[in-house]
Amino acid sequence: MIFCAATNNQGKLKELRRILERAGHEVKSLRELGVTLDPEETGTTFAENARIKAEAFCKATGLATVADDSGLCVDALNGAPGVYSARYAGVHGDDDANNRKLLDAMKDVPAGKRAARFVSAVCLMLPDGRELTVEGECPGTVAFGLTGENGFGYDPLFVPDCVGLPDGTTTPNTARRSYAELADGEKDAISHRGRAMERLEQALPAFLGE
Ligand code: IMP
Repeated sequence: MIFCAATNNQGKLKELRRILERAGHEVKSLRELGVTLDPEETGTTFAENARIKAEAFCKATGLATVADDSGLCVDALNGAPGVYSARYAGVHGDDDANNRKLLDAMKDVPAGKRAARFVSAVCLMLPDGRELTVEGECPGTVAFGLTGENGFGYDPLFVPDCVGLPDGTTTPNTARRSYAELADGEKDAISHRGRAMERLEQALPAFLGE
């Protein structure tokens, strides 16, 4: 299928593109489609916000559109930053400021109480109005400092419980590497977005009536 990947976040676009292309789909970015739109994320859940974005960009492009809304939910912070992950420190998409704020908020939280999970809701919207929303999660912990250069957002602070192996299986993250220290395949196999996209792929034939 040809999908519009409905995101202005370049880190997310890279992941959506590689996951969808690996599954045999063609991906058009908003830049390639010449669409500049920044719909307001007024939802209170990941699923609501994913739907808002998918609907807006589907209308604008006339293409089957995939939108992800995602974020980090930290137990010790009662689920924050959650749906506000992108704008936790005040400015939308300021990863450095968000990471600094998270480290500060967690400075007195001991090891063993730093559990968190990344959540992704992915909404597929078709031009005829049919829609499908799936979710994926990745459990882990918030580190005490930043490590790694890959990825985006909170990647250098998030230590997933498991990492992916080349054969598609997973293994416990005994080396305690952050998302930002993982290779693409190691992250995609266990990531919140990877898991949501896997569910989307599984649900696609029935959804399309194939
Ligand atoms: P959204 O674009 O409103 O869904 O915001 C998602 C925000 O959550 C991003 O700006 C990041 O701060 C964070 N986020 C989502 N997925 C990831 C990820 O895979 N790694 C690191 N941060 C992420």
